[in-house]
Amino acid sequence: MSTQSLESQTPEDEGELCVNCGERGEDRRTLWMACFYAMEELAVPFGHQVLFHADPATLTPASPPTTLPGRLGLSPINIFPGTVTCSGELTPKKIYTLRVCKDCRSGWMQMIEHWHASFSRVRERAEARQQTTEE
Ligand SMILES: [Zn+2]
Repeated sequence: MSTQSLESQTPEDEGELCVNCGERGEDRRTLWMACFYAMEELAVPFGHQVLFHADPATLTPASPPTTLPGRLGLSPINIFPGTVTCSGELTPKKIYTLRVCKDCRSGWMQMIEHWHASFSRVRERAEARQQTTEE
């Protein structure tokens, strides 16, 4: 790469921004979260999207999913879910999004695992109480 092309590069040429760590690069994916709580109150740079909940009985396949063949006897991997049309009522649902890099996704998943594990003693106590009341 020449010096001139480096000078003319824009941030967009360096890849997509990770809103969590600020690095630009490839392989950005979107974390989706919703818990019926105003998560904009958190100090996290969430984006927003709206999903529409539909009764599956009202859906008609429109285009098939895009899949990669599964290897070694595994099921095909859906890389795009395909589309449907709907003849019923749709319910909008606001979700919070974070477009993040692989390292930040990994950290997010580790924190969720840590959060779940941190409540194991609470679950054990609740199960012990449940057994006591059943006896
Ligand atoms: Zn990141």
